[in-house]
Amino acid sequence: MANPTTNSGTVEELDAVVVGAGVSGLYQLYRLREAGLKVRCLEDGSGVGGTWYWNRYPGCRFDSESETYGYTFSKELQQEWNWKEHYSGQPENEQYLNFMADKFGLKRDIRFNSHVTSAVYDEKANRWDVQIENGQRLRTQFLIGAVGILSARYVPPFEGIDSFKGQSFHTSRWPKEKIDFTGKRVGVIGTGATAVQLIPIVAKEVAHLTVFQRTPNYCAPLRNALVSDESQRRFKATYDEIYQKCLSSPAGFPYDFDRRKALDVPREERLALYEELWAQPGFKKWLGNFRDIMTDRAANEDFAEFVRNKIRARVKDPKVAEMLAPKDHPFGAKRIPLETEYYEAYNRDNVLLVDINKTPIERITPKGLKTSDKEYEFDVLIYATGFDAISGPLTRMDIRGQGGQQLREKWAKGPRTVLGLQTAGFPNFFIATNTAFCNYTICAEKIVEWITDCIGYLRNKNYSRIAPTVQAEDAWVAHVNEMGSQTFLTSAKSWFVGDNIPGKAHAVLLYANTAPAYRAKLAETAAKGYEGFELR
Ligand SMILES: Cc1cc2nc3c(=O)[nH]c(=O)nc-3n(C[C@H](O)[C@H](O)[C@H](O)COP(=O)(O)OP(=O)(O)OC[C@H]3O[C@@H](n4cnc5c(N)ncnc54)[C@H](O)[C@@H]3O)c2cc1C
Repeated sequence: MANPTTNSGTVEELDAVVVGAGVSGLYQLYRLREAGLKVRCLEDGSGVGGTWYWNRYPGCRFDSESETYGYTFSKELQQEWNWKEHYSGQPENEQYLNFMADKFGLKRDIRFNSHVTSAVYDEKANRWDVQIENGQRLRTQFLIGAVGILSARYVPPFEGIDSFKGQSFHTSRWPKEKIDFTGKRVGVIGTGATAVQLIPIVAKEVAHLTVFQRTPNYCAPLRNALVSDESQRRFKATYDEIYQKCLSSPAGFPYDFDRRKALDVPREERLALYEELWAQPGFKKWLGNFRDIMTDRAANEDFAEFVRNKIRARVKDPKVAEMLAPKDHPFGAKRIPLETEYYEAYNRDNVLLVDINKTPIERITPKGLKTSDKEYEFDVLIYATGFDAISGPLTRMDIRGQGGQQLREKWAKGPRTVLGLQTAGFPNFFIATNTAFCNYTICAEKIVEWITDCIGYLRNKNYSRIAPTVQAEDAWVAHVNEMGSQTFLTSAKSWFVGDNIPGKAHAVLLYANTAPAYRAKLAETAAKGYEGFELR
C-alpha cells in the first residue's frame, strides 16, 4: 500500500480510520470501503484476527458454536469455509479471519504494526488527527474504534515482576512459536476462562504445575467434537435457520432460556433438566437454563449447588474440590468458563492449587514467586490475569474530543455513551465493539452496519458531523445501570463491572438487556433520524 505519511512526512487524508483488525474492524473496513469511503485500518499486531491473533496459548478456542460465530453477511464466505471443530481452536479461527480478509482484499488497506497512541479532534477542520507510535499521522473525518472488549491485557503490578530469571508469558501475548514445557516447573496465576482452557493441556506436559487461584469459577463442560461431513453439510444447508434462531434468542446463541420459574418445577423434573443440559455442549447449561437463575437468588443457588456437586464428583481430594467450588458469587455472575478435563487436572500428582486469598502473592522473585507462606520456584510463569475489559482499549489511547476533553477523564467513573456507539463531545467518533451481552459476531455485525448506515445518512443529507446529546447520554447510562441491576451479571467482582482492575471505577460495562432488545434500539434510533444525536 502506498504510504504517504512514512518518509515524506505528509499526512494522509482519509474519510475514515478504523482502529483494530479483529472481527469487528475487518467487517467495518469492508463495509465502509463498499460504501465508497477512503478508509484505512490501523492494527497493532502484525496480522489480522484481533483476539484470535493475540491469544495463542495452548487450548485457546471458541466457547461459541463455530457455526454461530462466523460472519453471516456473506453467504459465499459461509459456503466456502469449513469448520473443523464444533468449538474451533485459535489457529483455525485466525486462519478463518485471514481467509475472510483475503477473500475481500482487505489487507491492502490495513497497516499492521501500527499502534495508535492518540487521536485528537480538530474542531475547526472537523477532522481527527490520528497518531501512530511509529510517528506516522493520518487525518480523517470519521474515526472508528474497533479495538475490542478484551484486547487490553492486564498484568497485576507485582513487586519484583522484572526480576524473574525464567520465561514469563501473558496468555494474550503468547509467542507464535510453540513453548516446550517438558520437564519444566510452571506457575499459572489466575483461574478465569483462559486459564481453564490452558491448565489441562499444560498440566500434561510439565514436570510440575502450580496454579494460583483468587476466585474459583463455575466451569461447565464444553463437550467439543470434530465436525463430521454430515454436520458440515447441515451447517451449509441451514445457515439461514441457524442465524434466525440466534437472532431471536436472548444472547445470540442457538438456544433460549426455559421460561418457567426454576423452583415452580418439581425437584425431580428440575434435576432431570439440569442433567440434560449438563450433558449438552456449550453454554446451554447457562443460557438454555431456567431464565430466573439469572435473577432469583434461590433459583440461582439451586443450580449453583448442582454445579458444585459436579465439581465435587470430579475432584478426588475433597479439600481441593472445596477450593474449586465457588461459594462467593452466584452462578453466571462471572463469565462461565467452558472446560475440557479442567477438574481432572487437579487429580494429577504434578498439579498443586494454591489459594491466594489465604496466602497472598507478595512478590515475583528471580527464582519464581513468593506468597505470604513460602517461595515457589519456577522455570516458566504464566500470567492468565485477564484484561482491562471493554473501556480499557479505548481509555489507554489518548483520545481527545471537543475542547481537548480527554476520553479517559470523561470516563473516569465508567463509560458514558449512547447505545455503546458514541460519546457526547467526540463528534464522528464511533465505537465498533459489541458491549451487548451477546454472541460476539452476530451483534458486532449489526453495530458495524449501524455505523456504516449512519455515515451514509450523514453524507446523503449533507451533514458533516454527529455526536450524541448529553441528555441522551445521561438517559442511556441510567438505562444501562438499571438493566445491570436487574441481573446477577453485575453482582460479582468481575471484569463485567471493572472490579478486576485495582483503581478502575466500578461501573456496568455490559448492556445487560437481551440482544434482540438492543438491536431493536439500534434500529429504532436510526429510523427516527438518529434520535438523541445532534447532526450538523
Ligand atoms: C480468549 C478469548 C476467547 C473468546 N471467546 C469468545 C467466544 O467463544 N465467543 C464470543 O462471542 N466471544 C469470545 N471472546 C470475545 C472476543 O474478544 C470477541 O469474540 C471478538 O473476537 C472481539 O472482536 P473485536 O474485533 O471487537 O476485537 P478484538 O478481536 O479484540 O480486536 C481488536 C484489535 O484492535 C487492536 N487494537 C487495540 N488497541 C489498538 C491501538 N491503540 N492501536 C492499534 N490497534 C489496536 C488490537 O490489537 C486487536 O487486534 C473471546 C475473547 C477472548 C480473549
